[in-house]
Amino acid sequence: MPPFFQPVIDRIAADIATAPGRGRPADYIPALAEADPQRFGMAVAELDGTVYGVGDWQQPFSAQSITKVFTLALVLSLEGETLWEHVGREPSGNPFNSLVQLEYEHGIPRNPFINAGALVVTDRLHRLTGNASGALQEFLRAESSNPLLDFDERVTASETAHGDRNAALAHFIASYGNITTPVPELLHQYFRQCAAEASCADLARAAGFLARHGIRADGSVLLSRSKAKQVNAVMLTCGTYDAAGDFAYRVGLPGKSGVGGGIIAVVPGRCSLCVWSPGLDERGNSVAGVAALDRFTTLTGLSVF
Ligand code: GLU
Repeated sequence: MPPFFQPVIDRIAADIATAPGRGRPADYIPALAEADPQRFGMAVAELDGTVYGVGDWQQPFSAQSITKVFTLALVLSLEGETLWEHVGREPSGNPFNSLVQLEYEHGIPRNPFINAGALVVTDRLHRLTGNASGALQEFLRAESSNPLLDFDERVTASETAHGDRNAALAHFIASYGNITTPVPELLHQYFRQCAAEASCADLARAAGFLARHGIRADGSVLLSRSKAKQVNAVMLTCGTYDAAGDFAYRVGLPGKSGVGGGIIAVVPGRCSLCVWSPGLDERGNSVAGVAALDRFTTLTGLSVF
């Protein structure tokens, strides 16, 4: 059978190349501000790991909040439902780094994909494994088949130097007893996690377990079918900052974005995708990335709806 996806993504890349407006790279983390908004890459991974790519699909970039999907999946696989006593699963309706809800919700973050929730998830992963960022790295290397996948310690340092807001979130949650790792250690783990460098090919492959209903690349079970559905559902409702409604409307797939300009998306039972372009809209989602996924589901008819 000729490859179905290659002509589709070639056409999308050609459309994106002529589309006006690319947004602006995130500048609140100085190491990310240098990225060129004209860069664009897209990769689609079949269930068996075969990857089709276009543009800068093999160029590593800062995965940032995309890693929150993987830490969530690891914690769910290790401790199951207990996690949901510590973090909710409702959209927050607030920016990803907001502090305001935490006080009146007693230190229980709204969902695992805002920074507050991700800090709680990383705390749990660190307690369960003794090395949260190491567990994430091992997982990403295995699922992406890229043994060289690593953290960019320059980005870790940049985030650490400009991490007052995340530090405030972590200390505040710790004051409710919902984080128990010492905050400096937790922040180090979290900033390393965010600084994972991976390409569209790596991340499309690494998200494959969500398209395979919880099955890892080696055929072992990471999550039950039901838990894989839960992760996909939280991605759909909370995965693209406070623009998840618009993302569902335009793209119609579970997705998770990061301020490095990447977005992963999942067509359960069919494929997993990653797009990258560093220019962001005002909500923090890649402008060209959302446009490309919008085109993908329009051209292929593949969506969860
Ligand atoms: N490292 C970033 C932060 O914590 C992640 C933000 C993101 O990609 O949403 O601010």
